[in-house]
Amino acid sequence: MIRKGFVYEESFGTISDNDENSSDVRLRPHHVLCIQFFVGQGYSEKFVQGMADVIKALNHNDPQIQLVKECDVICGSCPMNENGKCSSDSKVQSIDKRALKEYGLDFGDKMNWSSLVELARSRVIYKGRLPHVCENCSWSHLCSGEKAE
Ligand code: SF4
Repeated sequence: MIRKGFVYEESFGTISDNDENSSDVRLRPHHVLCIQFFVGQGYSEKFVQGMADVIKALNHNDPQIQLVKECDVICGSCPMNENGKCSSDSKVQSIDKRALKEYGLDFGDKMNWSSLVELARSRVIYKGRLPHVCENCSWSHLCSGEKAE
């Protein structure tokens, strides 16, 4: 169950379990991949809860996603987010750019959540491109490929 009435917003985008609040959800391109392998681990308890809530809302509402190069709705609860900028931004930008290239998309592009998941799975995960896209990611040991099905 989605926690009743939650809304994430600020400058990182808004996502909610309430359809009335639905609008484009801002998402960094590589986070589509991270979400496929989420097993309840992350930078902090707050981050893990935030990510779990976001994933539930994405799957529940299937909103339109806008792919962004800045902090997004998942970064909103991350301790690495320093005043709206990721403290590992250059590394994360590289991962985002590699993900976009494999998706065949660009920053600013929009697509609904379920189609984006299909694209990320077929063009990256099932093609064995995850090690290339996620090179240098400190969490890649969690992404065995078994959860994305
Ligand atoms: S590490 Fe950076 S890109 Fe990843 S969730 Fe945290 S702030 Fe966002």
